[in-house]
Amino acid sequence: MPNPNKVTERLFQSPSKYIQGPSAIRNVGKYLSAFGKSPLLLSDELVYGIAGKDLTDALEGSGFKVTRGIFGGEASREEVSRIGAIAKDNSVDFIVALGGGKTIDTAKAIADDLGLQIAVLPTTASTDAPCSALSVIYKPNGEFEHYRFYSSNPTTVLVDTSVVVKAPARFLASGIGDALATNLEAKSARNSPNFGGGLPTEVSSAIGAKCEEILFKYGRQAVEANKVGAITPAFEAVVEANTLLSGLGFESGGLAAAHAIHDGMTAIDNHTLHTKMHGEKVAFGTVCQLILDSAPTEEMDRYLGLMVSVGLPTTLADLGIHEVSDEELFRVAKLACAPNETIWNMDRLITPEIVFHAIKGADSAGRDYKVRHGIKL
Ligand SMILES: [Zn+2]
Repeated sequence: MPNPNKVTERLFQSPSKYIQGPSAIRNVGKYLSAFGKSPLLLSDELVYGIAGKDLTDALEGSGFKVTRGIFGGEASREEVSRIGAIAKDNSVDFIVALGGGKTIDTAKAIADDLGLQIAVLPTTASTDAPCSALSVIYKPNGEFEHYRFYSSNPTTVLVDTSVVVKAPARFLASGIGDALATNLEAKSARNSPNFGGGLPTEVSSAIGAKCEEILFKYGRQAVEANKVGAITPAFEAVVEANTLLSGLGFESGGLAAAHAIHDGMTAIDNHTLHTKMHGEKVAFGTVCQLILDSAPTEEMDRYLGLMVSVGLPTTLADLGIHEVSDEELFRVAKLACAPNETIWNMDRLITPEIVFHAIKGADSAGRDYKVRHGIKL
C-alpha cells in the first residue's frame, strides 16, 4: 500500500559533487583535498591492478597517506567489520571506494560505522550504487539480506571513463539493465515515499525520464563502442545515465517490482543464475514490472528490443533457469513480497499470486518477442 505513514513532504537527495571524464583519476588530489590526508582505499585485487595502483600514485603524489583494504568479494556484515577494523587500526580519516557495486556498498557501510566521509570511484558503469545513501547487504553466501540506509550520500563520486571503458561491455549492458528499471519503477512508485523518506519531487521524475531517453538513444551504440574501447559521446552519455541519472532517479524516485523480484531471485539455488550480474537480473524484473503495469505489447516490445540489442536477459532461459518449477517461482514471488520490499510502493494491488503470474507472463512475453523476431530461444 503506498504511503501508509501519510508522508506529505517532498524530498530529493544527492552527492555534493559528481565528476566524470577520461583520465579523471589523475586529478583526484584536487577533488579530495578537503576530505583529509589518510584515506583507506578499498578495492579487490583485480581492480587494484587495473586502476588502484594509478589511483594510489595520484593520491601519494598529492601528499595523501594511503592505507589499502583488500575487498573479499561480498558486501556482507562480516566484511564490513573486518575492513572497518583495518581502517580503525590505521586511524584513517576518510574512505575511498574503488570498484563495482559490492565494493562500493561495503565501503559506504564502513564509512558510516566510523563516521567518515566517502569518495566513490566506480570502475564499471554496471550499477547505480555509486551515488546513493544506501547499501545492499548480502549474506556471505550471496543471498540478499537487507538495505542499509545512511544519513548522507557519498560526498564525491568520480568516474574515470578511461577505466570504465576497459571493463567488458557486459558490465555497461548490465548497468543499462539496472538503469532501464529506474523510470518505470519511479513511475509505479510515484505516490510512495522514496529512499530518503519523502515523496518524489518533480526533478526526480525528470531525471528518470532523461535516463530512459539516453538509454534508448545511445544504449546500443555505447555498448558497441565499449567493445572496441572507444570513449565516444554516446559512451559518456550512457555511463552518466547508468551512474548519475539512475542513481539519483531510483533513490529519490523509488523502486518497485523490478528490484523486489530481483531480490526474490537471489534465493534460487542455481549456479548459472548466480553468475548473472545485478542489472541482468533486474532486466528480467523490469519485464515483470511492465507486465504488472499492464504495458501494451507495442510498449513491451520497445523495452524488449533495447534489452535484446545489448544482450540483456529477457526470459527465464536467458537467466539459466528454464527448468525452474512453479513452486520455486512462487517462492521468488513470496520473497519479492517480503514486508520491507519495494514492491509495496506500487500503486496497485500486490499479492504473491499476482507476482507469480507476472513472472510467468514476463517469461512468455520475452519468448514471444524472440519468436516474432527470429531470435533463438
Ligand atoms: Zn539496482
